[in-house]
Amino acid sequence: MKGDISGLKEELSGLLLDGGAMAVGIADLSQAREAMTAYADSRLLRFNRAVSFAVAFPRSVIHQLAEGPSLTYLHYYRAVNTLIDELSLRVTALLETRGYHAFPIPSSQRTGKHKLASIFPHRIAAHLAGIGWIGKSGCLVNEQVGPRLRLGTVLTDAPLPPDAPGEVQCGQCTACTKACPAGAIKGRLFAPGVPFSERLDPELCDRYQDQVRDRFGKRVCGLCLVACPFGRIGSETTGSEQ
Ligand code: SF4
Ligand code: SF4
Repeated sequence: MKGDISGLKEELSGLLLDGGAMAVGIADLSQAREAMTAYADSRLLRFNRAVSFAVAFPRSVIHQLAEGPSLTYLHYYRAVNTLIDELSLRVTALLETRGYHAFPIPSSQRTGKHKLASIFPHRIAAHLAGIGWIGKSGCLVNEQVGPRLRLGTVLTDAPLPPDAPGEVQCGQCTACTKACPAGAIKGRLFAPGVPFSERLDPELCDRYQDQVRDRFGKRVCGLCLVACPFGRIGSETTGSEQ
């Protein structure tokens, strides 16, 4: 039963916001074919739309990372991912009930040697859906919470009306580049055709987190999340320090 498509978009948005998402958008994936071909599993390229959503990460937990690695951060990393997977399943069920195909992307699934390898780039869908922009850190940055969020994506063939992509707002800021203890962030913005390795070196990030594991017992860092001026809490600035 395929009903009013704008009504379906509102229904999806309501489901996600009521369930704990802080931002929702629809991505037109045909706008980023080059990036999709480079980063996504080729079997997923038949989908033209993505329902993209963000769940905010507790900011005070992220900011504890400035004092050192934290087990609390790892606990909530798993908890937020579980919530995202649950929401993705609910979105998928709703789309399938309405007669469309839908494919939920796992919230966190390492498929390659490096932690950033996955079957589909959540951050590209989130950027296209207007949730934010891909910052110099390689993270999706949202105006309200900065990179202190995690993303969910459900691919679909439902012809949902897309949102406008997020505008890049990093400007001259270099906070994440300076904060990275591994020297992994190269200070370049995402651009179609620019290889990922020219923006961030995942091996350096991985190696640093291996060193943390040697002394702390777990792989964790997140200093690039702490450093971003967008969405800081408390007495710290909210907005761009460009
Ligand atoms: S997680 Fe740490 S090592 Fe990796 S890019 Fe961010 S700041 Fe650098
Ligand atoms: S710290 Fe600055 S350069 Fe890095 S993602 Fe945030 S705004 Fe962009």
